[in-house]
Amino acid sequence: MNDNHKTYLVLPHYDAGLLSPDELEQLAGLARKYDIPKTKITGAQRVAFLGMGPEALEALKAELQIPETPPHARSRVHYVQACPGSTWCRYGHQDALALGERIKAIELDGPLPAKVKVGISGCRFCCCESWMRDVGLAGESKGWRFSFGGNAAGRPRIGDLVAEGLSDDEAVTLVTKTLNYYLHTARFKSRSARFMERFGIEALKDAVLG
Ligand code: SF4
Repeated sequence: MNDNHKTYLVLPHYDAGLLSPDELEQLAGLARKYDIPKTKITGAQRVAFLGMGPEALEALKAELQIPETPPHARSRVHYVQACPGSTWCRYGHQDALALGERIKAIELDGPLPAKVKVGISGCRFCCCESWMRDVGLAGESKGWRFSFGGNAAGRPRIGDLVAEGLSDDEAVTLVTKTLNYYLHTARFKSRSARFMERFGIEALKDAVLG
């Protein structure tokens, strides 16, 4: 429930806006069971139920086993956005959805200092706004381009280019090393954009490349 006493709940397990017919039926069943007034696909490509009463909110959280601690406090990235990529889009150079599944599953050395949002685009059109995400990945013909420290909020920032031409395995390894460096070095609550302004791209490259 937010400060205006309006309720909403972002549902787990539906990242990247990818929904099978069975999942759509499951969502519709939940919405009917709990009399949810509105369902929304969020800007982060997740599914939210809006406007239910407090009892329905608590019952839904229990039924869906939603943890009280946010993902970044549990050594995970906050959310992963991914476009249809080479599997479903004719412009795609790389499989954004497959890489998204792997990034989502990364287990880090410990809790992150702050939210980490990931944007994975299958080509340079960057439909997932990769440059403006903490972790940005964009597919090119020679592999993935990886940027770190982007932000689209009140003080927007374009991420710093860390590396290009990465395979899927190399991208997962480098993102993991970068996030571990960030969590071991940054102050608590320091988003990656502010962290990169203080430490700079060369310090990051020294720590994670080579
Ligand atoms: S970023 Fe490229 S591959 Fe992804 S949806 Fe947009 S045009 Fe298609």
